[in-house]
Amino acid sequence: MLHEFEYARPATRAELHELLARHGKAAKILAGGTDLLVNIRCGVSKPAIVIDIKKVRDLPVIAWNPKVGLVIGPGATINEVLAHPAVHDHFPLLSECGHDLASYQVRNRATVIGNVVNASPCSDMAPALLCLGAIAIVSSKRGEREVPFSEFFTGVKKTVLLDDEILERIVVPTASAGARGSYHKLKRINGHDLGIVGVALMKKEGVVALGISSAAPTPVLVEGIRETDAVEKAVAAARSATSPISDLRCSKEYREFMIEVFIRRLWAEVK
Ligand SMILES: Cc1cc2nc3c(=O)[nH]c(=O)nc-3n(C[C@H](O)[C@H](O)[C@H](O)COP(=O)(O)OP(=O)(O)OC[C@H]3O[C@@H](n4cnc5c(N)ncnc54)[C@H](O)[C@@H]3O)c2cc1C
Repeated sequence: MLHEFEYARPATRAELHELLARHGKAAKILAGGTDLLVNIRCGVSKPAIVIDIKKVRDLPVIAWNPKVGLVIGPGATINEVLAHPAVHDHFPLLSECGHDLASYQVRNRATVIGNVVNASPCSDMAPALLCLGAIAIVSSKRGEREVPFSEFFTGVKKTVLLDDEILERIVVPTASAGARGSYHKLKRINGHDLGIVGVALMKKEGVVALGISSAAPTPVLVEGIRETDAVEKAVAAARSATSPISDLRCSKEYREFMIEVFIRRLWAEVK
């Protein structure tokens, strides 16, 4: 049984901000609903009002501007992002991570922004956004602020967003265009499944970055490594940045082992 809640469908960004300013904590934003509706159905989330943002006409969807970068708005589904020519041409790592998220059908509804605001440690989009130096543009009735993704996640299912704020757009900067990268994700089954552990590795202009999921309370960014370093440096940096746990899907030791295996494979694979 679903508990009762009010439903609102603002048509403009200003109306959306107004609703959030009025209801704050009691409100939940509905994008694709692939996390929110599951949480409402099982009683984890009990909003008094659900604000559907799919019909807000003045929010961005997805656009490539060489001066700014790739702009991903709250309406952009994972499949729309995967199909965008700029993602194919400039940001292959986004594509790698997106293809590993759920199934084609889920990706038709699920948004990139919903995935990061949900802030699961096993988010598949976060590793790519962390490596690519993406910025979250957060807005409310009070104005806008910019938060690098390296500071966006604050704990399990927690972000810097305040109760009256939305994540209005993600900007993947032009400076990261052309970066080479790949993503390896360990799952219990061959089909779609949440990650037991996921490692993204990006190389650009001699610099290497790692984005790691399911290995700490938040997705983790590992920086300060160069292509000229030995792979052992990347493995050691990842070990000190992560704190995997044992749970019903696997042990801490197996997670640690697979992070190292994936880093070594990716190091050789990403030329
Ligand atoms: C069968 C299944 C398989 C899945 N497999 C995976 C997987 O392999 N990997 C993975 O990472 N995830 C997986 N997921 C989780 C899910 O699909 C993603 O997290 C999805 O991207 C969430 O996007 P959404 O648009 O559906 O978000 P919603 O469910 O609409 O929202 C998610 C959260 O974000 C908030 N929110 C949404 N948009 C905004 C905004 N603009 N500003 C502020 N708050 C906002 C909502 O209030 C809610 O709290 C799976 C889900 C299902 C049902």
